[in-house]
Amino acid sequence: MKLNVDVLRYLSKDDFRVLTAVEMGMRNHEIVPSELVDRIASLKHGGTYKVLKNLLKHKLLHHDSSKYDGFRLTYLGYDFLAIKTLVNRGVFTSVGRQIGVGKESDIFEVANEDGTIMAMKLHRLGRVSFRAVKSKRDYLRHRSSYSWLYLSRLAALKEFAFMKALEEHGFPVPNAVDCNRHCVIMSLVQGYPLVQVKQLQNPEIVFETIIGIVVRLAEHGLIHCDFNEFNIMIDDDEKVTMIDFPQMVSVSHRNAQMYFDRDVDCIFKFFSKRFNMSFQEKTEDVDGSQVDTDDNGRPCLSSIEKTTSFLDKELAASGFTRKDQDVIEKFIDGEIEEDQSSDDEETVDEGHNSELNEGNIRDFNSIHLLDQRDQTLNCDQKCEEEDQQLCEAVQSS
Ligand code: ADP
Ligand code: MG
Repeated sequence: MKLNVDVLRYLSKDDFRVLTAVEMGMRNHEIVPSELVDRIASLKHGGTYKVLKNLLKHKLLHHDSSKYDGFRLTYLGYDFLAIKTLVNRGVFTSVGRQIGVGKESDIFEVANEDGTIMAMKLHRLGRVSFRAVKSKRDYLRHRSSYSWLYLSRLAALKEFAFMKALEEHGFPVPNAVDCNRHCVIMSLVQGYPLVQVKQLQNPEIVFETIIGIVVRLAEHGLIHCDFNEFNIMIDDDEKVTMIDFPQMVSVSHRNAQMYFDRDVDCIFKFFSKRFNMSFQEKTEDVDGSQVDTDDNGRPCLSSIEKTTSFLDKELAASGFTRKDQDVIEKFIDGEIEEDQSSDDEETVDEGHNSELNEGNIRDFNSIHLLDQRDQTLNCDQKCEEEDQQLCEAVQSS
């Protein structure tokens, strides 16, 4: 997704006020009625509608008049709100080139006043599902956009909280700089994803380091859950940095064994294929700790001594709660189960993608209900009361 930040410069205070009003309105409405935007924004000199038109022109909003006239934020609009906030905080001053495109994120270089370059990760959970939301299925249309924003925000907060806590425990991760909405700012890793590395001076050492990280994570009560050659960076000195944490789970998760084995397996398979390494049962230590392995040299989760307090205590410090973890785990579980079931059975008529999408959305609707604020959504009166409270809160601030 192209991010034309030049537009940022031309946006006025009123533009941002109205954009923020739409974001606030989305707490109660998938499509925010224009009058509500006007009430929340309460511009000193009026003109909300003109501003809305301008924001629409720049694709920061989406206009929908299917049920009633209203607006919702686009991802670009959400990007701008996060970027503006972080720029105001002095975290960075400019946005540069795109350095990564994931299935559910976009990564850009940003620079601060001193010229230090950092990485900005914009989470886009459910991006693949947007197509399905747009389809005619009526039952999918309930406030989905807000929920995607909500999940993306949660993913960013989780990533930030984990990165910070892992860094404090001496894990090789980027430095977590700041976080706002669906956006995480971290230090730029010098190096390349392992998948791009064709040759290593010391493949055995790199391999041992990487397996050592998986084991040490488990000792801290954690499993990465997406630990593979795409999420491990290597620099010219063959130093390893691990990235990408929104899907991490606790070792007490019901599928912990499967996740752990899968992470380990990815690494073993990659090193065996790319660097022709072979493995056998191990009796000596893995990274200083005594860990049993199976016949193929893979460490066993059950033999690792774990401390499980890590998740609760240290993550809460960044504002990431147990409840947030439950919500995001539900979403991830749903995706994985859907992945598995669409492997088993042929998709009927809409192809693999839409099958997956539908799964996301279905699961996502159940998550959605977990957000307290949304439980009132079907109740018009409560909704009106909340709209009123929102307007009052904004006006008194
Ligand atoms: P996704 O969740 O979409 O997989 P990742 O966090 O794995 O996102 O990032 C995608 C790609 O962006 C990575 O493979 C890497 O090439 C690049 N990238 C991510 N974070 C950084 C960083 N801190 N420094 C340098 N490159 C990064
Ligand atoms: Mg990744």
